[in-house]
Amino acid sequence: MFGLERADARSVSRVEDFLREQTGEAVVLDPVHLATGLLGNAVAALARARAITLGPLICVRRSEHEPQKSPEVRVALERFGSLFVHECVHVWQYRRDGAMTFLRHYMKAYFSGIWIAGSIRRAGRQSAYLAIPAEIEAFRLEQVWQQGAEVIARREAARGVEPEVRT
Ligand SMILES: [Zn+2]
Repeated sequence: MFGLERADARSVSRVEDFLREQTGEAVVLDPVHLATGLLGNAVAALARARAITLGPLICVRRSEHEPQKSPEVRVALERFGSLFVHECVHVWQYRRDGAMTFLRHYMKAYFSGIWIAGSIRRAGRQSAYLAIPAEIEAFRLEQVWQQGAEVIARREAARGVEPEVRT
């Protein structure tokens, strides 16, 4: 009912390989847990986010579940695409920096961003969020992943192969 599960090993190791290649660091993610039911939805909604990562737990909002995928599909990369990669970057940041240091830096950057924006309204919160160094890093890597996925999809389409992930 709460929809708590461990992310499949294949998705996790693909993202680990990608992050190692991109950062040159010995990235270890496993185990990554997903909260995709009521709990995950509630926590992400509370944070007003598509998803939020707390240590090794990724809470995903219900609206982010790929609608055309049947519930039997348990492959995290197929279900959540580059959002899974983005949240895995946060899983790694927690491990790399230590949870307390990560949260302290994250919150400090967020609230000083709001102070700079001079507003806690939506636009102020959004610009503060996008200026957090941990988010800049996660969005950058998510984008690199996304571009790679698009190149593969185009190549497969050109060869007449059914793409593995439809976006
Ligand atoms: Zn993020």
